Amino acid sequence: MSLLENRIGVADAVLLEEVNEDAMLQNYHARFKEDQIYTYIGDVLVSINPYHSMNIYTPEFINEYRGRNLYELPPHVYAIADETHRAMKERNADQCIIITGESGAGKTEASKLIMQFIAAVSGDGAEVHRVKKQLLQSNPILEAFGNAKTLRNDNSSRFGKYMDIQFDFKGDPVGGIITNYLLEKSRVVTRTEGERSFHIFYQLLSGADQAVLNELALERDANAYKYLSSSKCLVVPTIKDDKEFAATRAGLEVCGFTKDEIQSIWRILAGILHMGNIGITGSGENSSVSTKDIAQKAADMFGTDVASLSAAITFRTVETQGDSVKSPLNVAKAEYARDAFCKAVYSRVFSWVVSRINDSIRVTSRERTTVIGVLDIYGFEIFKHNSFEQFIINHCNEKLQQIFIELTLKAEQEEYVREGIKWTPVTYFNNAIICDLIEAPRTGILSLLDEECLKPGNTSDDSFLQLLDKQIVRHDHYDSRTKSKNRTIDDKAFRLKHYAGDVDYNVAGFMDKNQDLLFKDVPRVLFASKNALLKSLFPEGEAKKGVLQRPPTAGTQFKRSVAELTTNLTSKSPHYIRCIKPNEEKRSRVFDENLVRHQIRYLGLLENLRVRRAGFAFRQDYPRFLQRYKMLCPQTWPVWKGQEKEGVRLILNHLGVTGDNCAYGNSKIFIRLPSTLFMLEDKRRD
Ligand code: ATP
Ligand code: MG
Repeated sequence: MSLLENRIGVADAVLLEEVNEDAMLQNYHARFKEDQIYTYIGDVLVSINPYHSMNIYTPEFINEYRGRNLYELPPHVYAIADETHRAMKERNADQCIIITGESGAGKTEASKLIMQFIAAVSGDGAEVHRVKKQLLQSNPILEAFGNAKTLRNDNSSRFGKYMDIQFDFKGDPVGGIITNYLLEKSRVVTRTEGERSFHIFYQLLSGADQAVLNELALERDANAYKYLSSSKCLVVPTIKDDKEFAATRAGLEVCGFTKDEIQSIWRILAGILHMGNIGITGSGENSSVSTKDIAQKAADMFGTDVASLSAAITFRTVETQGDSVKSPLNVAKAEYARDAFCKAVYSRVFSWVVSRINDSIRVTSRERTTVIGVLDIYGFEIFKHNSFEQFIINHCNEKLQQIFIELTLKAEQEEYVREGIKWTPVTYFNNAIICDLIEAPRTGILSLLDEECLKPGNTSDDSFLQLLDKQIVRHDHYDSRTKSKNRTIDDKAFRLKHYAGDVDYNVAGFMDKNQDLLFKDVPRVLFASKNALLKSLFPEGEAKKGVLQRPPTAGTQFKRSVAELTTNLTSKSPHYIRCIKPNEEKRSRVFDENLVRHQIRYLGLLENLRVRRAGFAFRQDYPRFLQRYKMLCPQTWPVWKGQEKEGVRLILNHLGVTGDNCAYGNSKIFIRLPSTLFMLEDKRRD
């Protein structure tokens, strides 16, 4: 069945009669009702989460989509995977697939389907087989450590993931490199009621043998651990923690983790759980650990000495001119220090797990590889209450949108110029201005936040907001209560006009989260650990003379990694998958039009469609086009000896494709509408 024959609504939004949000929405709705979860906008795939299993991911489907043209079959994530894999092989050029959408929209599932497809259609030598197995097995590991049950998604990725799959010249996978972004580490110690911490904790408790638990001094009951029990959600009906534990452990083994390494990880996780149960009491400015036995268990697991561990959370060492002074912490600060300790340990273990997987799967030989990068990253987030995390995530999405605009529009325009074709510019909102507002050196919001964090004396979230009001108040995309007296903005918030809409960010916690302070006491204790893994994670704890370098702030680190990601993506040919969540209740067959309308907006789909419609949907160089369609015209069939461009002209004239419907470039033919192409494909088949 070709894409054209897939007549429920239109399979490509480019074919819609009208270009507006309603038309798009109604089309998605009509298709969704018939279980058509995929639709194109040109070569962008839009996917709507069906929330029920569909039999469209079978080996038969993989075969069907293998080696076929995007236009030949109904839209499918396999079509994008195939197109990407083929483009990489044929052009010997790096590709990337950018998957975006909000939590629960189906990004991670899509990325796994892509990997599954590529594994299925590529070679099967022993080495390739090993690599594929490792690439696929990295998923359960990363999900165990980086995913959690949230209110929106039972298996929500709490980190951004970019994975380069490396291929040899035959197009077979030979390795991979994973990059992780911004793990939501606060989840280890707190989260909204009804959500869980990272899967791995529950997996360990329910899946590990009793002997292992004994060794870790753990009880099987997750309720025994405050870090787990506090959010009042321990089991998830859709998740079998014990089975998942077996899968995680198998994954770790396949990816080359040694028994010792695995054992060290369990000890660290157990240490975190014990830490959460440590009681702290005190009065005034002093505090002490009240549950020495539990502290002892934590210390055993971390391979540290209990006195130093207790001191690291109840005292803070401040260094002044060569002298170090220990000052006591009150109960609240000690609890904060204990939690910061656990968050730091967990997030470093997570990053280590990623780099350890990379050690096993990345290609180290000099042999040149081409790559397909797959980006599975949180989409635009607009909640009732938006904080530092949303600010950072939305900044990332703003950048991705910029890449999209730049790559699509610029590449489009440049090609038209190169090919000598007239291009009518499309007006679009260039969001560079808002990217600058956030990230410009010295004057951007992230820099101003760093500035405020570094200022000595009394700074606070409020003084940060005042600084913004002073420095960027004139910016068109910035608003606040002080600026406009607009009472819809909270007086502790600032509003940014993102490409996707207005978002109010409450500044509470911005300074703290940005500084992400880990006082030196913690790294020092952990650097002294007998657990070699833990020791290696805190190199800054090594006692050295001189002042410790202040690590870059969380905002700056993220800005850098987003910049790296941007450079990386722009060096590749992009493919896009936009995921949509049909309802908030995770229910199948329910399509909430308002919710979907919002996402159409936030994902920039209408803009996307306008760009697509303004230009030519399809282009191909003359020789290939001629080869494929010469059978459709008596003058070019079976052989055409003249110039290729002329041959193509004869074919299209013969079929009545003239005027505005096509344009003859220097080396390529441009066709305005996909329908023309479908017509050609249909005629070939007749
Ligand atoms: P987050 O940002 O929270 O990580 P996500 O976009 O990665 O969200 P997924 O975890 O991929 O979302 O999908 C959420 C759930 O939706 C899946 O666990 C699965 O139950 C269901 N789902 C997603 N895609 C599909 C699909 N193609 N077919 C069937 N079910 C799906
Ligand atoms: Mg996910």
